Amino acid sequence: MLIDLHTHSAVSDGTDSPATLVATAAAAGLDVIALTDHDTTAGWQPAAAARPTGLTIVPGMELSCRWFPADEPPMSVHLLAYLFDPQHPGFAAERVRLREERLGRAERIVGNLAAAGYPITWDVVVARSAGGVVGRPHIAGALVEAGVVDSVDKAFATVLNHRSPHYVTKADTDVLDGIALVRAAGGVPVFAHGLATSRGRVVDDAALTTMTDAGLLGLEVDHPDHTPEQREHLRALAGDLGLIRTGSSDYHGTNKLTPIAACTTDPDQYEAIVAAGTGSTVVGD
Ligand code: AMP
Ligand code: ZN
Ligand code: FE
Ligand code: FE
Repeated sequence: MLIDLHTHSAVSDGTDSPATLVATAAAAGLDVIALTDHDTTAGWQPAAAARPTGLTIVPGMELSCRWFPADEPPMSVHLLAYLFDPQHPGFAAERVRLREERLGRAERIVGNLAAAGYPITWDVVVARSAGGVVGRPHIAGALVEAGVVDSVDKAFATVLNHRSPHYVTKADTDVLDGIALVRAAGGVPVFAHGLATSRGRVVDDAALTTMTDAGLLGLEVDHPDHTPEQREHLRALAGDLGLIRTGSSDYHGTNKLTPIAACTTDPDQYEAIVAAGTGSTVVGD
């Protein structure tokens, strides 16, 4: 049984429509896929409507969060959420706030780039996001199209990097509040790519312990951005903390090089997520 619990469609910053994504999943031989677009559930219905026979879809999301260390500036972190109630008022309101925050922040990054002389406009970036959740990959795509960089990866490594002078942060959800919201909505919170140092600073074991005390239920262990040593560390920590362990590709279509199903989740860990999620149900045969 092949299970990939972290993928993005074009309703956030992937390139496959939800319908194409589920077809891609089936073609890759997956039995279970979770759709985890950033800060939106807009892909749930179109993915379910296009579900190929034999494929099970887990409704999910990746929530943009911040961790506040005691003596350092806040860190950007991501929380995967599965099987929550999309109608839960507090959680729904927080998603709206996050999407508005993303819009304002992306517009400011584009303004910084334009002021620095890069041939890019806000209209082009908005058009590329096609009514979905705006993210840096859309700005990166516009920069590639304008000939500023030759790939999305290159844009992330240079002008869009969090160390770039053009970069603007966003006021993401305090991860402890995010965990509480996901649980209140009957969902299963899993900490995403926790040791992916290529994305910036990463949290320590004490932070993950604090999150577990706040209701975290799982750690994403096998992720393309984790080294074998990082995976072993997280696998052991999940054991110590009694957390579910997941594996996933973080597929983004052609916005990233990683293929779907590049990492997968063990069936017993998947079953534990399904058992813990009470806010919505998987969509299958
Ligand atoms: P943002 O959410 O706007 O800060 O953009 C960060 C998102 O871009 C991450 O959550 C990933 O989904 C995606 N991302 C990060 N690095 C890359 C990359 N090198 N190429 C394409 N997408 C990336
Ligand atoms: Zn993304
Ligand atoms: Fe992420
Ligand atoms: Fe992701």
